[in-house]
Amino acid sequence: MAPGDRDGSTLGSAHAIEPASAPVSALDPDELDRPIRSSMPELSRATAALRRIGIETPREALWYLPFRYDDFSELRQLGELVPDEKQSARVRVEAVRIEPGFGRRPQRVIAQLTDDTGSAKAIWFGRRYVERRLQAGDELIVSGKVTQRGWRSQFASPEFSPVGRESVHTARVVPVYHLAAGVTQKRLREILARILERALPAVNDPLDEAEREGLPALDDALRTAHFPEETADVVEALDRLAFDELLALQLTLAQARQARDGLTAPRIAVTEDERAEIIAALPFTLTDDQASSVAEIVDDIATDRPMRRLLQGDVGSGKTAVAAVALACAVRAGWQGALMAPTEILARQHHTGLAPLLDALGVRAEFLSGSLPAARKRAIHDAIAGGMAEVVIGTHAVISEAVTFPRLGLVIADEQHRFGVGHRAALQAKGSGGEPHVLALTATPIPRTLALTVYGDLSISTIRQLPPGREPIRTEIRDRRALPKIEAFLASEVGEGRQAFVVVPLIVESHQLQVASAEAEAERLRVALPTVRVGIVHGQQRSADRDATMTAFAAGELDLLVATTVIEVGIDVPNASVILIEDAERFGLAQLHQLRGRVGRGRHRSFCILLSDATDELTLRRLEVVRGSQDGFEIAEADLELRGAGNLLGTRQSGLPPLRVASLFEPRHVKLAQRARELADSAIAADPTLADRPLLARLQRDFAPIEEEGDAA
Ligand code: ADP
Ligand code: MG
Repeated sequence: MAPGDRDGSTLGSAHAIEPASAPVSALDPDELDRPIRSSMPELSRATAALRRIGIETPREALWYLPFRYDDFSELRQLGELVPDEKQSARVRVEAVRIEPGFGRRPQRVIAQLTDDTGSAKAIWFGRRYVERRLQAGDELIVSGKVTQRGWRSQFASPEFSPVGRESVHTARVVPVYHLAAGVTQKRLREILARILERALPAVNDPLDEAEREGLPALDDALRTAHFPEETADVVEALDRLAFDELLALQLTLAQARQARDGLTAPRIAVTEDERAEIIAALPFTLTDDQASSVAEIVDDIATDRPMRRLLQGDVGSGKTAVAAVALACAVRAGWQGALMAPTEILARQHHTGLAPLLDALGVRAEFLSGSLPAARKRAIHDAIAGGMAEVVIGTHAVISEAVTFPRLGLVIADEQHRFGVGHRAALQAKGSGGEPHVLALTATPIPRTLALTVYGDLSISTIRQLPPGREPIRTEIRDRRALPKIEAFLASEVGEGRQAFVVVPLIVESHQLQVASAEAEAERLRVALPTVRVGIVHGQQRSADRDATMTAFAAGELDLLVATTVIEVGIDVPNASVILIEDAERFGLAQLHQLRGRVGRGRHRSFCILLSDATDELTLRRLEVVRGSQDGFEIAEADLELRGAGNLLGTRQSGLPPLRVASLFEPRHVKLAQRARELADSAIAADPTLADRPLLARLQRDFAPIEEEGDAA
């Protein structure tokens, strides 16, 4: 570090991405994956800080992308500065003054700046040694937020660099990264610039020019994603990186499809008559969508190619009934079936809901969970092993090692996105007549264009119509001024014997804040509504505590449940008639729709209140979609359309694989996913192990496999 450079703000490297830089030695390709400590010892003092943000190797640093950019590339004149915006200017320093700190007031460094059009001040707070780098007469580029003080403009703690020695912080499009404790934005930017400089030449593109089809080369894309020349260049660069991520996903899906070609499942043969007989034994008539889903499943399981089918339909659309028919068919043909749910409560609910249906169809269902007494568990294990248990419903305990199914033919996985690939693989290994057929159920409606790319290894059945006689959930949009009325309404519903949910605002940045907000809201409601029994559930509770509260709510021992999105795919409480969703604009539309599905499950007239103080037109249009439709697919499609552009970095939604760069709500990326799928298919067809394409294999490994996320909130 140069003398007089005590805050380390201008590592020599910082200028290196500028054309005037002196050449530095490139890393070897192998060094990209070695610890930074060994591949770039000159950064050894930064490695602890980097580790805290999850960067151990140069490659990880390359892929640590900014979440936003500040555009300081246009140089303004002091006379034309606009208040409350981030801007850059080329200035002369007239004078520098230090105001010593006093008591709790920090020291301030104040510089008087001028150009031909006017003057301004720059102020830095705290002991930052800024004055050592500033002298009257210096020509500088300053970049930062401008505020108006009286009639004077003022830069608040701006970045600056001498004219002719522009740094990564000034007079350009500047990346802004997520930080961790102990690293400043400026320091991280410099470290990353330094790493890029030595690592980018070592990056080999896994795609040849024909495969890129006009997308930029990987090294260019990475450089631009960190330090773009112009904001407009970012889109193309991120498209390229998104393509790589989507390609990794598609390679995995293509391998799964290929691997399945070599496997065989039992042929589960049921005649038309048998199927009709089973359906006739149900206490209701199947809807057309239910009937065609049943037909698709029955056709699949009759062949020896293992079924991998996703049944999607809104909450209450009757997926469970379809599952019951499929299980009954398997049992009728002499096979065993299993149904797995992601939580104990959901598993119990399934057992409660399915057992009577299966009973009507002459099938015996056992419930199995880790929490059963050991003796009971052993008895069920024996019943399964002896083939007496025809259908087993439960949690992951179903796939615990002690359980052996002699004739497992069909597995149903509820809310499949909560089941990791590993779970499914373990379950598949349980089958003894070959691979079992697998049917996954999901209430996350995914538009067809997306489903094909995201679940490229699955066939899809869809239930769009609800069973007859459902009353729509009355949905209203209100702002905070209506809260007293809303609370009175909650209290009156409770007075009528109903129950209510209150969903607290989504805070993606911090689980802690989210929990704090749930606790504060529960407390506020306890005070505001003293006669109402209030419980709380959130994702930071131990799951036993959370389950206990949910069970108490389901049993009617609590009237109102304050919750984070953990209730999104959750309990069935037919007595609940109202759900209030606070700061509704923060949720995805599909998520709002799923939350709304927590009510309207019984015979009571039900209500959903979307609370939002947002006033911009797009937000209101989005909320209006949910208010105006009860159809999850219609809502998901509108969501896709309305999000559209401007959403550069990935958006998470339950039911979709977590993507870092790509966004499945970005129509351009959906097209890229289709292209990625074609490329993946041909690469895997040529060589399933990718042995001849080590760079592609590497790419596939670099992105997390499609192991899906657990409870998010
Ligand atoms: P999902 O699993 O998709 O949420 P369920 O299968 O649990 O939906 O069905 C919700 C409710 O609707 C259940 O009470 C079920 O008995 C009932 N149901 C399902 N299908 C029909 C149908 N075709 N006609 C009438 N009621 C139905
Ligand atoms: Mg269900």
